[in-house]
Amino acid sequence: MKEVLVNLAYLVAASLFIFGLKNLSHPRTAVRGNLIGSVGMLIAVLVTLLDRRIVDLPLIIAGLVLGASIGMLLALRVQMTAMPQLVAIFNGLGGGASALVAGTALHEAVSRGTVPDTHLTTATVASGIIGAVTFFGSGVAFGKLQGLIRERPIRYSGEQVVKAAVFTVSLLLGALLVAGPDRIYLYWLMVGVASVLGVLLTIAIGGADMPVVIALLNSYSGLAAAATGFVLQNNALIISGSLVGASGIILTNLMCKAMNRSLLNVLFGGFGEVVSTEEDIYEGKVKATTPEEVALILEGARRVVIVPGYGMAVAQAQYAVRDLFNLLESRGVEVEFGIHPVAGRMPGHMNVLLAEVDIPYEKMKELEEINPTFDQTDVVIVIGANDVVNPSAQTDPKSPIAGMPVLEVWRAKTVVVIKRSLSPGFAGIPNPLFAMDNTLMLFADAKKAVQDIVNALKET
Ligand code: NDP
Repeated sequence: MKEVLVNLAYLVAASLFIFGLKNLSHPRTAVRGNLIGSVGMLIAVLVTLLDRRIVDLPLIIAGLVLGASIGMLLALRVQMTAMPQLVAIFNGLGGGASALVAGTALHEAVSRGTVPDTHLTTATVASGIIGAVTFFGSGVAFGKLQGLIRERPIRYSGEQVVKAAVFTVSLLLGALLVAGPDRIYLYWLMVGVASVLGVLLTIAIGGADMPVVIALLNSYSGLAAAATGFVLQNNALIISGSLVGASGIILTNLMCKAMNRSLLNVLFGGFGEVVSTEEDIYEGKVKATTPEEVALILEGARRVVIVPGYGMAVAQAQYAVRDLFNLLESRGVEVEFGIHPVAGRMPGHMNVLLAEVDIPYEKMKELEEINPTFDQTDVVIVIGANDVVNPSAQTDPKSPIAGMPVLEVWRAKTVVVIKRSLSPGFAGIPNPLFAMDNTLMLFADAKKAVQDIVNALKET
């Protein structure tokens, strides 16, 4: 009877996860979705704690208090711009925890003298390999996002053979463990080899492809959790892990589309290093401007498109951008926002920042919608964006971002780019847009620059 009630509670939790995910798919309902999902998780955790097999309740409560405190502290203190790093850590810890729990469960079963069956050991192997790849892969992703590891892909000859060999060795060790589950050392050896695979897979991926990798690692963390759910025979963990795995794969697919890449291409592709140097591209061709000149140009504009990027998030310029938007609209100028799906450092980053300052959703246009309108646009203001407006994606087949759909801002009459210097964006490559005839560079912090433009506009 008790088991029926527990499973019923898990069913309620699973339904809440699904409703939560549904609500998370739109910014308007995202906060509610988060809350619904959290309630589902609370039910799942509480019901699991009622399980008599859980022996050390004080230790679990101590873990909950410690984990919740660290989580709360991180959530309160982390900057919006460091959110992707935090997501990378969360993914990694999820994968690492799954591998440790599955290994410990195997250890416990063997020391009790029960020989785990093939199903259980296979699930343990899956959890160990995927969990270790996720933990170490996410560690490298964190390092890249935090600037601790260079963003350019690390490639070497025979790379794919090395990765295939490491993967095969981990599978072989897993197969040996399934054949003889009491040889626990094989599990930890397999986890060690899979950890190397996690590092090798992620160091080979270039900065611009990181959004795909983060989504994929997110999916892996879910799969590892689902496998651990089979090990522990816990339905809630199986369902929630599968949901994370499935939604992570959907997100990976969306990110692949945004980058115009296939997943295989991201994981194993060999995009070349950049051939043109910054001197070739910029020397003597870049024109600097001032807030006053930009205000004068905006005076005569009828249609303006604002393209935000990572720099807007760094500068926290969204409030100033809202003031500029309101001022231009009050003067009868048509203003829209061009949002690239990988602008910023996490999916939906720009939408969240603009929604925070009440920019109407209908003003935020996706890439496919805004690109055909640039021909009829008088001024595009690029605010702290770089890779997402880089024309080399279309013109240089050797570029690390070759083939990635970009916002074709250069089609507008005038392009104003606000950033502090000519330094590259996340992909680490120069941007020929900055040297185009119709581009003006406003070198300044995004928030200050936009505020200065607003002030200059008010004075005209
Ligand atoms: P980029 O990283 O290409 O460029 C951001 C630009 O902002 C920099 O060139 C920088 O130039 C400028 N900047 C930084 N701080 C400021 C500031 N305070 N004021 C003004 N400008 C500033 O950003 P994009 O949004 O164009 O592209 C996103 C990149 O991140 C893509 O390569 C994407 O693949 C990658 N990525 C995206 C993720 C996602 O999920 N969205 C996740 C991981 C990676 P300067 O220093 O000269 O000011």
